[in-house]
Amino acid sequence: MLICDGMADRPVPKLANRTPLEIAKKPNMDWLAKRGICGLMDTIAPGVTPGSDTAHLALLGYDPFETYTGRGPFEAAGANVELQAGDVAFRANYATVDGAFIVKDRRAGRIHGTEELSAAIEKIKLRGAQLVFRSTISHRAVLVLHGKGLSHEVTDSDPHEVGRKVLGVRPLLHPPERPGLAFPTIAGGIRRYVVRRRRASKTVRLLNDFSRRAHDILKNHPLNQERIQKGLPPANYILLRGGGIVPQLKTLYERFKIRGACVAAAALVKGVCKLAGMSVIDVPGATGSVDTDLNAKAKAALRALETHEFVILHVKGFDEASHDGNVGAKIQLIERVDTMLNKFIDATDLIAVAVDHTTPVSVRRHTGDPVPILIFGPGVRTDEVKTYGERSAAGGGMGRILGKNLMPIIADLMGKTEMFGA
Ligand SMILES: [Zn+2]
Repeated sequence: MLICDGMADRPVPKLANRTPLEIAKKPNMDWLAKRGICGLMDTIAPGVTPGSDTAHLALLGYDPFETYTGRGPFEAAGANVELQAGDVAFRANYATVDGAFIVKDRRAGRIHGTEELSAAIEKIKLRGAQLVFRSTISHRAVLVLHGKGLSHEVTDSDPHEVGRKVLGVRPLLHPPERPGLAFPTIAGGIRRYVVRRRRASKTVRLLNDFSRRAHDILKNHPLNQERIQKGLPPANYILLRGGGIVPQLKTLYERFKIRGACVAAAALVKGVCKLAGMSVIDVPGATGSVDTDLNAKAKAALRALETHEFVILHVKGFDEASHDGNVGAKIQLIERVDTMLNKFIDATDLIAVAVDHTTPVSVRRHTGDPVPILIFGPGVRTDEVKTYGERSAAGGGMGRILGKNLMPIIADLMGKTEMFGA
């Protein structure tokens, strides 16, 4: 399954109202569309704008509304942190604050080489939880709390804006939920609310304690003294955001008896695949940008197909080009990926081409438009669609499905599903 991140688009006026996918030369995708089956997919639900994390959960067959609490766990899994269900994970930024805790730079001058800092921070001992703090790329890091009774229902410490003071973390709780089936009494709902509030309070205490102590360590760290001398912004504060609880996901193998692997550069995608129990293959030269080494990724995916029944090849650059409004770069990448796709036509039985969400170059962010999908292989019922595109796929035999429907369809074509009923 080739996943083209953010490849779908809307008609572009300066392309005579065609989309980048419609205008790009892509003989291989069109060849597959002609001999396969196409359709449209609402990755989350009609009109819901997907994040890349919720979209990939859905593409792997999970219900994002049931499994998603925040982005942190997927970033942490992608950064190779060992996670257990119930851990709480946050995205973190090394940032620069002044003496009054006003944020001067949310990325500490896009600092690199922060391993020394993360090692110092990881020595912090908290009362009531263990912590893992890992630097990832550039100014980014992840914080994971491991312990009993933790919660993701807390606010960010990141004010998301330069010139504002860092925020204290606070509980983020909605009023008692309506009594439902699981908690048939109002008393049950209130009891559950009290437990959630207690967990949120504990997590708030831990995070604020962490923030204070991390600041003390960072502001005196030799690496930062050196940066100040060089006139660079010191990385003297850790901003936290996107907290989520690590979900207990049934693996791809547990659900479909499919051994899967994933070739991707984006930490978020790697994280989702890892939590789904897939092998995650690191490829040198895979950058997650338009300059990514597609040959190296294709080679790694072809190799993975020798030992796995199902391989995801994820290409991120479309999304980046769309966020930059760069329609030329987007079309070019579509054409390069199409050329790469040729290597797989003889190498594997079943090929699916999917998109996680639409990112129109005219809007420069994700939108809720459905995305085109295609499946080619033996036994696939073909349709009248001749080319792969947002509008042509609308006439395809798969009709309009939800993201979480795609994996069961693929598993069924692989002969992996069991009969429902007798
Ligand atoms: Zn995406």
